[in-house]
Amino acid sequence: MSGSSDNLHIAILSSPGVGHLIPVQLLAERLVTKHNVKTTILAVTTSSSPLESRLLKLPTEEGLVETVELPLGDISRLMNPSIQVATTLCMMLREALPLIRSAIASMDRKPDALIVDLFGTEALPIALEYKLPKYVYVPSNAWYTALTVYCPVLDGEIKGQYVDEQDCLKIPGCKPVRPLDVVDPMLNRDDQQYVEYLRRGKEYTLFDGILLNSWEDLESKSLEAFRENEALRSVMTNPVYPIGPLTRTIEPNVLENGFMAWLDKQPNQSVLFVSFGSGGVLSTEQMTELAWGLEMSQQQFIWVVRSPTCGRVDDAFFTRDYGSEWSPSFLPPGFLTRTQNIGVLVPLWGQQVKILNHPSIGGFLSHCGWNSTLESIVSGVPMIAWPLYAEQKLNAAMLTEELGVALRPEDLPTRKVVGREEIEKLVRKLIQGEDGKVMRDKVKRLKISATSALSELSGSSYKSMCQILSNISNKRSARMMK
Ligand code: UDP
Repeated sequence: MSGSSDNLHIAILSSPGVGHLIPVQLLAERLVTKHNVKTTILAVTTSSSPLESRLLKLPTEEGLVETVELPLGDISRLMNPSIQVATTLCMMLREALPLIRSAIASMDRKPDALIVDLFGTEALPIALEYKLPKYVYVPSNAWYTALTVYCPVLDGEIKGQYVDEQDCLKIPGCKPVRPLDVVDPMLNRDDQQYVEYLRRGKEYTLFDGILLNSWEDLESKSLEAFRENEALRSVMTNPVYPIGPLTRTIEPNVLENGFMAWLDKQPNQSVLFVSFGSGGVLSTEQMTELAWGLEMSQQQFIWVVRSPTCGRVDDAFFTRDYGSEWSPSFLPPGFLTRTQNIGVLVPLWGQQVKILNHPSIGGFLSHCGWNSTLESIVSGVPMIAWPLYAEQKLNAAMLTEELGVALRPEDLPTRKVVGREEIEKLVRKLIQGEDGKVMRDKVKRLKISATSALSELSGSSYKSMCQILSNISNKRSARMMK
């Protein structure tokens, strides 16, 4: 099977937000650099994100990735704080349909296929109109995707709220889902975001296939279920293609900082990295317990900190001297002084990929967003799973129960404040204990399997992508023959 698909042109639709744009850019980069496909990103944008604007301006791969920005204009009427983010995103995509249609109409060279991201299924009628092969890119894992496409069946079978169920939710051929671990849209069946989630689950099955940011060795059971399990196949008849792990290697340079110099001075695998993704915020009480837990563990740490109330940090953070008496109000008094020899606080945003790849990092206390999860695995770093929202509880369950590369608190951090003693124990166990060592070995094996999945010498994810491109190519030839 050839990896080169000369002459193909693929359009990829990205929903608003950095978390959606980054995976689409990674996919585009992969298509261009490894498969020689011309790629156009159709990026639906809002004016609210400076980081998004910066990402849109990054140089594109050898001129073969073109980005067409589709700004939504005034969307204030869609921005209602009582509406969940996922629902707002669906509304934004509906709003963007005329923009997407005219962007495709005005292309000199029409695409040979349309790939949409997980909120982009709204664009299905446009793919049908232009008779384009159509794929969904879910930049997450197979288990989550199985739950999503199977949820309409669960909806018919289960009455009442999923979280009140006594038994695990069964997805054919896959690991059952604890009711507590369901994705956020399934937490309340009376909310509009559940209706949108069900709709998206059904729409995924109408596309020619689903691309996943995962790989065979990581999720052999769920991927096999998509291929072999009749009950799951009766819902999702079209193929599912694991094409990952696609992770960032270059950091958008948001903050220049001297934290790397501090990391350079620490012993190998001795530092815990603490971060909760692009927007994760803890309660004041939980911040306090975490700070105490880190201090009591006496392990080195580097912690990306955001204020519990506003998700930002005081300007003083950027100018202070480490070890001064100044301390933000949301940390215990004197915390900075007492931990000045073991810890570093990074305000707001850290260069996560660089940090994770630093040899002194020995563990990652993470909210288990899928990008962070993959970045940790491909850096060979074991985790403490601290899920907060979206599908992170599923990711945490996979990391701890199936893959054995993470520890987690007894109770979910979304249900109960995790106390300082428990945090202290978890940190010590991961960085110093035998459990941590076993997990580090396992995650390093996964790291190796991730590299081979992407290999052009018969890597499973590489072959999956070739398969998709070959299908698109065949369909284009068939269209041209007509
Ligand atoms: N990230 C980062 N620095 C930070 C916080 C986040 O570079 O301080 C990056 C992280 O490397 C990852 C992304 O932001 O690529 C977060 O994505 P993820 O899926 O983990 O979580 P989300 O933010 O979508 O909840």
